[in-house]
Amino acid sequence: CSKGVHGMNGSADHFHPNIKVNGEVLNPMVGSSDVAEDVKLKIAIVGFGNFGQFLAKEIVKQGHKVLAYSRSDYSKAAKEIGVQYFSDADDLCEEHPEVILLCTSILSTEKVMRALPIHRLRRSTLFVDVLSVKEFPRSLFLQVLPKDFDILCTHPMFGPDSGKAGWGGLPFVFDKVRVAPDSTRATRAEAFLDIFRRAGCRMVEMTCADHDKHAAGSQFITHMMGRVLEKIGLENTPINTKGYESLLNLVDNTARDSFELFYGLFLYNKNAMEQLDRMDWAFEMIKKRLSGYLHDLVRKQLMLETTGNDQAGLTNGAKNNHDKKLMLPPPAANPSMIVPSAATHEKKHDLVHVNGSR
Ligand code: NAP
Repeated sequence: CSKGVHGMNGSADHFHPNIKVNGEVLNPMVGSSDVAEDVKLKIAIVGFGNFGQFLAKEIVKQGHKVLAYSRSDYSKAAKEIGVQYFSDADDLCEEHPEVILLCTSILSTEKVMRALPIHRLRRSTLFVDVLSVKEFPRSLFLQVLPKDFDILCTHPMFGPDSGKAGWGGLPFVFDKVRVAPDSTRATRAEAFLDIFRRAGCRMVEMTCADHDKHAAGSQFITHMMGRVLEKIGLENTPINTKGYESLLNLVDNTARDSFELFYGLFLYNKNAMEQLDRMDWAFEMIKKRLSGYLHDLVRKQLMLETTGNDQAGLTNGAKNNHDKKLMLPPPAANPSMIVPSAATHEKKHDLVHVNGSR
Protein backbone atom coordinates (compact mmCIF):
# COMPACT_ATOMS: atom_id res chain seq x y z
CA CYS A 1 0.00 0.00 0.00
CA SER A 2 1.15 3.47 -0.77
CA LYS A 3 0.39 6.14 1.79
CA GLY A 4 1.10 9.86 1.87
CA VAL A 5 2.04 11.20 5.26
CA HIS A 6 -0.31 14.07 4.48
CA GLY A 7 -3.09 11.69 3.62
CA MET A 8 -2.86 9.55 6.73
CA ASN A 9 -4.90 11.80 8.97
CA GLY A 10 -6.22 14.36 6.55
CA SER A 11 -4.05 17.14 7.96
CA ALA A 12 -0.34 17.41 8.41
CA ASP A 13 -0.98 19.39 11.61
CA HIS A 14 -2.81 16.55 13.25
CA PHE A 15 -0.66 13.53 12.70
CA HIS A 16 -1.45 10.59 14.87
CA PRO A 17 1.69 9.82 16.89
CA ASN A 18 1.46 6.09 16.14
CA ILE A 19 1.53 5.67 12.41
CA LYS A 20 1.08 2.16 11.15
CA VAL A 21 2.98 1.23 8.04
CA ASN A 22 2.60 -2.37 6.85
CA GLY A 23 0.90 -3.22 10.12
CA GLU A 24 3.78 -1.95 12.25
CA VAL A 25 3.63 0.93 14.70
CA LEU A 26 6.39 3.30 13.79
CA ASN A 27 9.04 4.12 16.31
CA PRO A 28 9.94 7.82 16.26
CA MET A 29 13.48 7.06 17.32
CA VAL A 30 14.21 4.67 14.50
CA GLY A 31 16.63 6.26 12.08
CA SER A 32 16.59 3.71 9.30
CA SER A 33 14.78 3.78 6.01
CA ASP A 34 12.50 0.91 7.07
CA VAL A 35 10.12 3.28 8.82
CA ALA A 36 9.42 5.26 5.71
CA GLU A 37 8.65 2.35 3.47
CA ASP A 38 5.87 3.18 1.00
CA VAL A 39 5.32 6.67 2.39
CA LYS A 40 4.76 9.08 -0.47
CA LEU A 41 5.31 12.76 0.08
CA LYS A 42 4.05 15.96 -1.48
CA ILE A 43 7.24 17.93 -2.07
CA ALA A 44 7.40 21.53 -3.29
CA ILE A 45 10.67 22.52 -4.92
CA VAL A 46 11.43 26.22 -4.61
CA GLY A 47 14.08 27.25 -7.17
CA PHE A 48 13.51 25.09 -10.23
CA GLY A 49 16.81 25.74 -12.05
CA ASN A 50 19.50 23.28 -13.05
CA PHE A 51 19.77 21.39 -9.77
CA GLY A 52 16.10 21.62 -8.77
CA GLN A 53 15.07 19.91 -12.01
CA PHE A 54 17.81 17.34 -11.69
CA LEU A 55 16.50 16.31 -8.23
CA ALA A 56 12.86 16.47 -9.35
CA LYS A 57 13.41 13.75 -11.96
CA GLU A 58 14.52 11.21 -9.35
CA ILE A 59 11.87 12.26 -6.81
CA VAL A 60 9.08 11.86 -9.38
CA LYS A 61 10.57 8.53 -10.48
CA GLN A 62 10.23 7.28 -6.90
CA GLY A 63 6.50 8.08 -6.93
CA HIS A 64 6.35 11.25 -4.83
CA LYS A 65 4.17 14.16 -5.87
CA VAL A 66 6.33 17.11 -6.89
CA LEU A 67 5.27 20.75 -7.18
CA ALA A 68 7.62 23.55 -8.17
CA TYR A 69 7.94 27.30 -8.05
CA SER A 70 10.72 29.54 -9.36
CA ARG A 71 11.46 33.11 -10.39
CA SER A 72 11.57 32.12 -14.07
CA ASP A 73 8.82 30.32 -15.94
CA TYR A 74 9.67 26.61 -16.04
CA SER A 75 6.16 25.37 -16.74
CA LYS A 76 7.23 23.55 -19.91
CA ALA A 77 10.23 21.83 -18.34
CA ALA A 78 8.10 20.91 -15.31
CA LYS A 79 5.43 19.31 -17.47
CA GLU A 80 8.02 17.16 -19.22
CA ILE A 81 9.28 15.85 -15.89
CA GLY A 82 5.82 15.31 -14.44
CA VAL A 83 5.94 18.22 -12.00
CA GLN A 84 3.07 20.61 -11.28
CA TYR A 85 4.42 24.13 -11.83
CA PHE A 86 3.28 27.27 -9.98
CA SER A 87 4.26 30.77 -11.01
CA ASP A 88 2.82 32.15 -7.79
CA ALA A 89 4.30 31.31 -4.39
CA ASP A 90 0.94 31.81 -2.61
CA ASP A 91 -0.70 29.23 -4.85
CA LEU A 92 2.13 26.79 -4.21
CA CYS A 93 1.93 27.13 -0.44
CA GLU A 94 -1.85 26.79 -0.46
CA GLU A 95 -1.33 23.30 -1.85
CA HIS A 96 0.04 22.47 1.63
CA PRO A 97 3.09 20.47 0.62
CA GLU A 98 4.58 18.42 3.45
CA VAL A 99 8.10 19.30 2.38
CA ILE A 100 9.51 22.53 0.99
CA LEU A 101 12.75 21.71 -0.79
CA LEU A 102 14.82 24.83 -1.29
CA CYS A 103 17.04 24.62 -4.40
CA THR A 104 17.78 28.30 -4.87
CA SER A 105 21.24 29.75 -5.44
CA ILE A 106 23.16 30.38 -2.24
CA LEU A 107 23.16 34.12 -2.86
CA SER A 108 19.40 34.42 -3.44
CA THR A 109 18.27 32.06 -0.68
CA GLU A 110 17.72 34.64 2.05
CA LYS A 111 15.69 36.88 -0.26
CA VAL A 112 13.59 33.95 -1.50
CA MET A 113 13.02 32.61 2.05
CA ARG A 114 11.91 35.96 3.39
CA ALA A 115 9.49 36.42 0.48
CA LEU A 116 7.84 32.99 0.89
CA PRO A 117 4.27 33.18 2.25
CA ILE A 118 5.09 30.81 5.11
CA HIS A 119 1.79 31.64 6.84
CA ARG A 120 -0.02 29.78 4.06
CA LEU A 121 1.76 26.51 4.87
CA ARG A 122 0.79 23.97 7.46
CA ARG A 123 2.49 24.63 10.75
CA SER A 124 4.37 21.36 10.76
CA THR A 125 5.92 21.68 7.30
CA LEU A 126 9.38 20.20 6.85
CA PHE A 127 11.90 22.60 5.32
CA VAL A 128 14.85 21.06 3.52
CA ASP A 129 17.65 22.79 1.67
CA VAL A 130 20.34 21.46 -0.66
CA LEU A 131 22.72 24.41 -0.58
CA SER A 132 26.40 23.63 -1.01
CA VAL A 133 27.12 25.49 2.23
CA LYS A 134 25.37 24.42 5.39
CA GLU A 135 25.83 26.76 8.35
CA PHE A 136 24.20 29.62 6.48
CA PRO A 137 20.85 27.92 5.62
CA ARG A 138 20.80 26.35 9.09
CA SER A 139 20.89 29.69 10.84
CA LEU A 140 18.59 31.29 8.27
CA PHE A 141 15.96 28.56 8.81
CA LEU A 142 16.27 28.81 12.57
CA GLN A 143 15.84 32.56 12.33
CA VAL A 144 13.00 32.77 9.81
CA LEU A 145 10.88 29.66 10.46
CA PRO A 146 8.39 29.41 13.32
CA LYS A 147 9.44 26.78 15.84
CA ASP A 148 6.72 24.32 14.75
CA PHE A 149 8.44 23.79 11.41
CA ASP A 150 10.91 20.94 11.02
CA ILE A 151 14.34 21.60 9.54
CA LEU A 152 16.59 19.25 7.62
CA CYS A 153 19.79 20.64 6.11
CA THR A 154 21.28 18.52 3.34
CA HIS A 155 23.94 18.58 0.67
CA PRO A 156 23.88 16.08 -2.14
CA MET A 157 27.60 16.08 -2.96
CA PHE A 158 27.03 15.58 -6.68
CA GLY A 159 25.36 17.33 -9.57
CA PRO A 160 23.80 16.79 -12.97
CA ASP A 161 27.23 15.90 -14.36
CA SER A 162 28.72 13.67 -11.70
CA GLY A 163 25.33 12.08 -11.01
CA LYS A 164 24.14 11.59 -14.56
CA ALA A 165 24.90 7.87 -14.57
CA GLY A 166 23.11 7.31 -11.25
CA TRP A 167 23.63 8.29 -7.62
CA GLY A 168 25.02 4.97 -6.40
CA GLY A 169 27.84 5.48 -3.89
CA LEU A 170 27.72 9.28 -4.13
CA PRO A 171 27.81 11.08 -0.77
CA PHE A 172 24.71 12.72 0.64
CA VAL A 173 25.31 14.85 3.75
CA PHE A 174 22.45 15.64 6.11
CA ASP A 175 21.88 17.25 9.49
CA LYS A 176 18.52 16.83 11.23
CA VAL A 177 18.64 20.32 12.65
CA ARG A 178 15.13 20.20 14.11
CA VAL A 179 12.79 17.28 13.69
CA ALA A 180 10.04 17.10 16.31
CA PRO A 181 10.27 13.82 18.23
CA ASP A 182 6.91 12.41 17.29
CA SER A 183 6.67 9.45 15.00
CA THR A 184 4.93 11.26 12.16
CA ARG A 185 7.56 13.96 11.91
CA ALA A 186 10.35 11.41 12.19
CA THR A 187 8.72 9.26 9.52
CA ARG A 188 8.38 12.19 7.18
CA ALA A 189 12.05 13.17 7.56
CA GLU A 190 13.08 9.55 7.01
CA ALA A 191 10.79 9.27 3.99
CA PHE A 192 12.57 12.26 2.50
CA LEU A 193 16.01 10.84 3.26
CA ASP A 194 14.86 7.56 1.74
CA ILE A 195 14.75 9.18 -1.68
CA PHE A 196 18.53 9.37 -1.54
CA ARG A 197 19.02 6.05 0.24
CA ARG A 198 16.99 4.28 -2.41
CA ALA A 199 18.97 5.93 -5.17
CA GLY A 200 22.04 4.33 -3.56
CA CYS A 201 23.66 7.44 -2.06
CA ARG A 202 26.24 7.07 0.70
CA MET A 203 24.38 8.73 3.58
CA VAL A 204 26.62 10.86 5.82
CA GLU A 205 25.07 12.41 8.93
CA MET A 206 27.18 15.37 9.95
CA THR A 207 26.72 18.76 11.61
CA CYS A 208 26.47 21.77 9.33
CA ALA A 209 29.62 23.22 10.92
CA ASP A 210 31.64 20.05 10.20
CA HIS A 211 30.31 19.94 6.65
CA ASP A 212 31.49 23.50 5.98
CA LYS A 213 34.93 22.77 7.40
CA HIS A 214 35.38 19.68 5.22
CA ALA A 215 33.78 21.26 2.14
CA ALA A 216 36.08 24.30 2.24
CA GLY A 217 39.10 21.98 2.28
CA SER A 218 37.79 19.81 -0.54
CA GLN A 219 34.95 21.18 -2.64
CA PHE A 220 35.99 24.83 -2.55
CA ILE A 221 39.59 23.93 -3.43
CA THR A 222 38.36 21.76 -6.31
CA HIS A 223 36.25 24.58 -7.72
CA MET A 224 39.03 27.11 -7.16
CA MET A 225 41.59 24.98 -9.02
CA GLY A 226 39.09 24.38 -11.84
CA ARG A 227 38.49 28.12 -12.19
CA VAL A 228 42.23 28.92 -12.10
CA LEU A 229 43.02 26.31 -14.77
CA GLU A 230 40.13 27.57 -16.86
CA LYS A 231 41.70 31.05 -16.79
CA ILE A 232 44.97 29.62 -18.10
CA GLY A 233 43.01 28.21 -21.04
CA LEU A 234 44.17 24.59 -20.97
CA GLU A 235 43.96 22.95 -24.37
CA ASN A 236 43.72 19.41 -25.62
CA THR A 237 47.09 18.22 -26.96
CA PRO A 238 48.04 15.17 -29.03
CA ILE A 239 50.13 13.91 -26.09
CA ASN A 240 47.74 14.26 -23.11
CA THR A 241 48.86 12.30 -20.05
CA LYS A 242 46.30 10.75 -17.72
CA GLY A 243 47.02 13.48 -15.16
CA TYR A 244 46.47 16.19 -17.74
CA GLU A 245 43.22 14.55 -18.84
CA SER A 246 41.97 14.76 -15.27
CA LEU A 247 42.82 18.48 -15.19
CA LEU A 248 40.84 19.00 -18.40
CA ASN A 249 37.93 17.13 -16.82
CA LEU A 250 38.17 19.26 -13.72
CA VAL A 251 37.93 22.44 -15.80
CA ASP A 252 35.02 21.01 -17.72
CA ASN A 253 33.12 19.98 -14.57
CA THR A 254 33.62 23.19 -12.61
CA ALA A 255 32.99 25.52 -15.56
CA ARG A 256 29.53 24.05 -16.03
CA ASP A 257 28.42 25.28 -12.60
CA SER A 258 27.34 28.90 -12.43
CA PHE A 259 29.89 31.42 -11.21
CA GLU A 260 27.23 32.46 -8.68
CA LEU A 261 27.43 28.99 -7.15
CA PHE A 262 31.21 29.24 -6.88
CA TYR A 263 30.98 32.72 -5.38
CA GLY A 264 28.45 31.39 -2.87
CA LEU A 265 30.86 28.62 -1.82
CA PHE A 266 33.37 31.33 -1.02
CA LEU A 267 31.20 34.02 0.50
CA TYR A 268 28.95 31.85 2.64
CA ASN A 269 31.53 29.45 4.04
CA LYS A 270 33.60 31.11 6.72
CA ASN A 271 36.38 28.52 6.21
CA ALA A 272 36.86 29.27 2.50
CA MET A 273 39.01 32.38 2.98
CA GLU A 274 41.47 30.43 5.10
CA GLN A 275 41.76 27.79 2.36
CA LEU A 276 42.30 30.48 -0.26
CA ASP A 277 45.10 31.95 1.87
CA ARG A 278 46.69 28.51 2.25
CA MET A 279 46.60 27.94 -1.51
CA ASP A 280 48.14 31.36 -2.11
CA TRP A 281 50.84 30.64 0.44
CA ALA A 282 51.57 27.16 -0.94
CA PHE A 283 51.85 28.53 -4.47
CA GLU A 284 54.33 31.18 -3.35
CA MET A 285 56.36 28.66 -1.33
CA ILE A 286 56.69 26.28 -4.27
CA LYS A 287 57.60 29.12 -6.60
CA LYS A 288 60.24 30.29 -4.12
CA ARG A 289 61.61 26.81 -3.80
CA LEU A 290 61.91 26.42 -7.57
CA SER A 291 63.57 29.80 -8.02
CA GLY A 292 65.79 28.89 -5.05
CA TYR A 293 67.16 25.94 -7.03
CA LEU A 294 67.64 28.11 -10.07
CA HIS A 295 69.34 30.83 -8.08
CA ASP A 296 71.68 28.34 -6.47
CA LEU A 297 72.58 26.84 -9.82
CA VAL A 298 73.27 30.21 -11.44
CA ARG A 299 75.34 31.30 -8.45
CA LYS A 300 77.44 28.15 -8.59
CA GLN A 301 77.95 28.65 -12.31
CA LEU A 302 79.09 32.23 -11.75
CA MET A 303 81.45 31.11 -9.00
CA LEU A 304 82.81 28.41 -11.27
CA GLU A 305 83.47 30.84 -14.08
CA THR A 306 85.32 33.13 -11.69
CA THR A 307 87.36 30.29 -10.20
CA GLY A 308 87.91 28.86 -13.66
CA ASN A 309 89.31 32.15 -14.85
CA ASP A 310 91.48 32.46 -11.75
CA GLN A 311 92.84 28.95 -12.05
CA ALA A 312 93.44 28.73 -15.76
CA GLY A 313 95.87 25.89 -15.13
CA LEU A 314 93.31 23.37 -13.65
CA THR A 315 93.71 19.82 -14.87
CA ASN A 316 90.83 18.36 -16.90
CA GLY A 317 89.99 15.98 -14.05
CA ALA A 318 89.54 18.80 -11.55
CA LYS A 319 87.37 20.73 -14.00
CA ASN A 320 85.07 17.74 -14.57
CA ASN A 321 84.63 17.51 -10.84
CA HIS A 322 83.34 21.07 -10.77
CA ASP A 323 80.92 20.31 -13.61
CA LYS A 324 79.59 17.27 -11.78
CA LYS A 325 79.01 19.32 -8.66
CA LEU A 326 76.72 21.59 -10.67
CA MET A 327 74.45 18.63 -11.42
CA LEU A 328 74.58 17.23 -7.92
CA PRO A 329 72.87 17.99 -4.68
CA PRO A 330 70.03 20.47 -4.80
CA PRO A 331 69.96 23.09 -2.06
CA ALA A 332 68.90 21.62 1.26
CA ALA A 333 65.15 21.91 1.71
CA ASN A 334 64.40 24.87 3.90
CA PRO A 335 61.89 23.68 6.52
CA SER A 336 60.03 26.98 6.34
CA MET A 337 59.33 26.26 2.69
CA ILE A 338 57.59 22.96 3.28
CA VAL A 339 53.85 23.34 2.91
CA PRO A 340 52.19 22.20 6.11
CA SER A 341 49.72 19.36 5.87
CA ALA A 342 46.08 20.02 6.61
CA ALA A 343 46.66 18.18 9.91
CA THR A 344 49.46 20.57 10.93
CA HIS A 345 47.23 23.40 9.96
CA GLU A 346 44.41 21.93 11.97
CA LYS A 347 46.60 21.71 15.07
CA LYS A 348 47.61 25.32 14.67
CA HIS A 349 43.95 26.16 14.35
CA ASP A 350 43.10 24.28 17.56
CA LEU A 351 45.81 26.16 19.41
CA VAL A 352 44.38 29.43 18.27
CA HIS A 353 41.07 28.40 19.75
CA VAL A 354 42.53 27.17 23.02
CA ASN A 355 44.39 30.41 23.53
CA GLY A 356 41.34 32.35 22.54
CA SER A 357 43.25 34.84 20.41
CA ARG A 358 44.60 35.05 16.88
P1 NAP B 1 22.51 28.18 -8.92
O1 NAP B 1 22.91 29.19 -9.91
O2 NAP B 1 23.28 28.09 -7.67
O3 NAP B 1 20.95 28.41 -8.55
C1 NAP B 1 19.97 28.54 -9.51
C2 NAP B 1 18.61 28.66 -8.84
O4 NAP B 1 18.56 29.83 -8.02
C3 NAP B 1 17.50 28.79 -9.87
O5 NAP B 1 16.39 28.07 -9.41
C4 NAP B 1 17.19 30.28 -9.86
O6 NAP B 1 15.87 30.55 -10.18
C5 NAP B 1 17.44 30.64 -8.41
N1 NAP B 1 17.79 32.06 -8.29
C6 NAP B 1 18.96 32.64 -8.57
N2 NAP B 1 18.91 33.96 -8.32
C7 NAP B 1 17.66 34.23 -7.87
C8 NAP B 1 17.00 35.39 -7.41
N3 NAP B 1 17.62 36.57 -7.37
N4 NAP B 1 15.73 35.28 -6.99
C9 NAP B 1 15.08 34.09 -7.02
N5 NAP B 1 15.66 32.94 -7.43
C10 NAP B 1 16.94 33.01 -7.84
O7 NAP B 1 22.54 26.80 -9.70
P2 NAP B 1 22.06 25.32 -9.35
O8 NAP B 1 23.11 24.44 -9.88
O9 NAP B 1 20.67 25.14 -9.84
O10 NAP B 1 22.11 25.21 -7.75
C11 NAP B 1 20.96 25.36 -6.93
C12 NAP B 1 21.33 25.06 -5.48
O11 NAP B 1 21.75 23.70 -5.38
C13 NAP B 1 22.49 25.90 -4.96
O12 NAP B 1 22.21 26.30 -3.65
C14 NAP B 1 23.68 24.95 -4.98
O13 NAP B 1 24.62 25.25 -3.97
C15 NAP B 1 23.00 23.61 -4.71
N6 NAP B 1 23.70 22.46 -5.25
C16 NAP B 1 24.05 22.44 -6.56
C17 NAP B 1 24.75 21.35 -7.07
C18 NAP B 1 25.14 21.30 -8.52
O14 NAP B 1 25.90 20.40 -8.90
N7 NAP B 1 24.68 22.18 -9.36
C19 NAP B 1 25.07 20.28 -6.23
C20 NAP B 1 24.67 20.31 -4.88
C21 NAP B 1 24.00 21.40 -4.41
P3 NAP B 1 15.44 30.88 -11.69
O15 NAP B 1 16.10 29.83 -12.53
O16 NAP B 1 13.96 30.77 -11.66
O17 NAP B 1 15.95 32.22 -12.01
